[in-house]
Amino acid sequence: MRAIRKSRPAPGLELCEVPEPRAGSGEVLIRVRYAGVCGTDLHIADWDQWAQGRIRPPVVLGHEFAGEIVEVGADVAAEFRVGELVTAEGHIVCGHCRQCRMGDAHICQNTRIIGVDRDGAFADLVAVPAGNVVALNGIPATTGAIMDPLGNAFHAVLAGNAVSGATVLVLGCGPIGCFAVGVAKAAGAASIIASDINPRRLELARTMGAHHVLDARSEDVPRRVAELTRGEGADLVLEMSGSAEAVKQAFGAVRLGGRVHLLGLPKGEVALELSSNLIFKGVTVYGVIGRRMFETWHQMQSFLSSGLLDPTPVITHRFPLEAIDDALHAIRSGEAGKVILEIGS
Ligand SMILES: [Zn+2]
Ligand SMILES: [Zn+2]
Repeated sequence: MRAIRKSRPAPGLELCEVPEPRAGSGEVLIRVRYAGVCGTDLHIADWDQWAQGRIRPPVVLGHEFAGEIVEVGADVAAEFRVGELVTAEGHIVCGHCRQCRMGDAHICQNTRIIGVDRDGAFADLVAVPAGNVVALNGIPATTGAIMDPLGNAFHAVLAGNAVSGATVLVLGCGPIGCFAVGVAKAAGAASIIASDINPRRLELARTMGAHHVLDARSEDVPRRVAELTRGEGADLVLEMSGSAEAVKQAFGAVRLGGRVHLLGLPKGEVALELSSNLIFKGVTVYGVIGRRMFETWHQMQSFLSSGLLDPTPVITHRFPLEAIDDALHAIRSGEAGKVILEIGS
């Protein structure tokens, strides 16, 4: 079968012919229809410091995908059938560490990631543990392929139950930021303010339901948020960019007693004056990693199946599997929303 692989510990990716995987015990085999391409794949392609420390080539990339079950391995619960359209949680967790046992499997200390630590979905077929598989139940396969990053947005917006009737500030309107705007809207936010340094992305945020968009290149974000909230600040701030400047803006723009949810990964240390920005304001800070298993997935399925949210406007680019370099280029340009690969049908 075809697969996009990191074959050697060096920059670049390779389209190769590899043997078809089989469904091992407790696994299902999925014929991939669509797969999402994301920043993680870019890090692996570029062979940056994180990738060098984590990836053990050869490995097939791809952790965001949807497809059809073609084989069910031994010891798999009967609910999965050949022919069923599914997606999967990309984090394979141990089930026995302290966090797993306390219901916080999204921070399992033994997490292994599909398409990072074992072969992934930029291929005609992928084998995954049945416990990670999520049935689409009528959700289109294109949407299924983006439920991993969409789930990050659901997790970011819904953590802390602070969104209903709230003013939400989204800093960074990449795909997950734009998804978060849509989720906040669907979940009943009263006012959504989105900020970015790219006009194209601000336009996408507006399409997804942002009431106000701020160009962070020319506007003072905390001051504009204060103006839009009668001087109070935002109830809930979602930092999705990883920019140190935006992290500071997050704490400058949050209201007294508000929440800051951090998802973007800053490159280095971020200097922040804590007394006035966090402690005296009584701010709650929450780190967003992955999706709560499987609470986030159930919430997401409800929003998607009921039509409360249509995330597909965020998908701006589609490429065939062979055009992975073009897909990565589109992401690098900063002009793309979500980029997906069309692999099978
Ligand atoms: Zn991803
Ligand atoms: Zn664990």
